[in-house]
Amino acid sequence: MTRAAIVGAGPAGAAVSEVLSAAGIAHALYDEQPRAGGNIGRRRFDAPALPPEEVPLCDYRGGRRVLRVSNDRSVEWDDGAAIRRQGYEAVFLCAGAYDGMLPRPGRFASWTSAGALQALLKGQGVVPEGRVLICGAGPFLHVVAADLVAAGVAVVAVVDALPRRAYVNLLPRAMAVPANVKMMIDVQRRLHRAGVALRFGHRVVALGARDAVLDDGTRYDFDHVGISDWFAPQTQLARSAGCTQAWSATGRYFHTRVDADYRSDVPGIFVCGEGAGVRGGPHARHSGLIAALAWLAERGTPAPERYGLAALRAQALGLTRFGQALEEAATSREPRLDDDGWACACERVPVARVRQAVADGLEDLSSIKIVTRCGMGPCQGRYCEPLVGRLVAEGGTAPRSALTQKVLARPLAVRELIGG
Ligand SMILES: Cc1cc2nc3c(=O)[nH]c(=O)nc-3n(C[C@H](O)[C@H](O)[C@H](O)COP(=O)(O)OP(=O)(O)OC[C@H]3O[C@@H](n4cnc5c(N)ncnc54)[C@H](O)[C@@H]3O)c2cc1C
Repeated sequence: MTRAAIVGAGPAGAAVSEVLSAAGIAHALYDEQPRAGGNIGRRRFDAPALPPEEVPLCDYRGGRRVLRVSNDRSVEWDDGAAIRRQGYEAVFLCAGAYDGMLPRPGRFASWTSAGALQALLKGQGVVPEGRVLICGAGPFLHVVAADLVAAGVAVVAVVDALPRRAYVNLLPRAMAVPANVKMMIDVQRRLHRAGVALRFGHRVVALGARDAVLDDGTRYDFDHVGISDWFAPQTQLARSAGCTQAWSATGRYFHTRVDADYRSDVPGIFVCGEGAGVRGGPHARHSGLIAALAWLAERGTPAPERYGLAALRAQALGLTRFGQALEEAATSREPRLDDDGWACACERVPVARVRQAVADGLEDLSSIKIVTRCGMGPCQGRYCEPLVGRLVAEGGTAPRSALTQKVLARPLAVRELIGG
């Protein structure tokens, strides 16, 4: 009998699956991507299966979007033909994070998130034509640029708001993730060899459809720009289950509140990986191992001997501190949001409109949503919530509550609803 469900087959979900398989527990692993791997390990849709796919006791449900999780631990998913529902003893939400951009005046078809460029490359083997500029803040920019260069793309520059000094200052905490340090050094070498301009400690201050001007006056022409200013956790499913959300002052997003074993406050629902705070791949794996071991202990199932829970918890703490320091280094360097940019691109709500609502005394996102329409568009607040939260926090107050999640967590075609 399938006893547990995992949503998300990235490092967090794969780690939960690994422990449950070793403990002899049958489980379902849902991912909307055809192949397991998540964001770091994303593989082409037509790649051969790898663990945790086709592993005994793991029922890998690839290409399946989970639309809702309820507080009775039932999972609703879209199997392509209809919407199905199944209840479980435990649900592990390992849905990852997404990246976005700060508001800038205008919005052109040549702009996308850097994450989208990488996802298209890794998942579909598709790259943009012409010159590409990568900008924003953090090490992810360099990884995306190096992947694009390796795929033959002409990357003109990486513009990273973090100065080199910020990376050096992070080194003591980065000792928790030596592989990431090594990867960053390797990526720098590859970009340097490819002749990509590496502009640490700079920002794009004017971005057009085909050109960008930096704070030191340098201009770059491009055909496509990939922007990654911030990351935020995918919390929609945890919200649909009623798990409490908390505002992160360092990350400037809402995340699901969990205990040291990644338990949410809804019984039987664990939130691992980026959903509990954006902390990187090694942390995601640790959180999955810890949550699965904690659940086995709760139900009295002997844990596989190879894992030491106490050591994992201590390592996870070090990884959490590194992740927090990195995100703080990025968010603390953000410029004041531009009044003329859109806080909500779906409903085209300018930043100035939200600032006015905050000045009028609104501190919770649901009230701001009613007054401004931020969060009412097709993305249902995924992209504007972190921005509106920033605008509330400008006054020194954390936003009071996150947006409530309506079903469904993913867009559906009408025919799929009728079919169900
Ligand atoms: C676009 C992007 C690219 C990244 N690339 C890199 C990289 O190259 N190198 C690096 O070091 N870090 C990268 N990161 C950071 C990295 O994602 C994390 O550190 C790590 O992968 C987090 O692991 P996770 O298991 O928490 O989530 P993820 O690896 O993100 O896995 C989450 C999985 O959940 C699935 N999912 C989400 N919602 C649903 C749903 N409703 N129904 C079904 N499935 C769902 C997704 O398809 C995904 O496969 C990237 C982040 C993003 C957002």
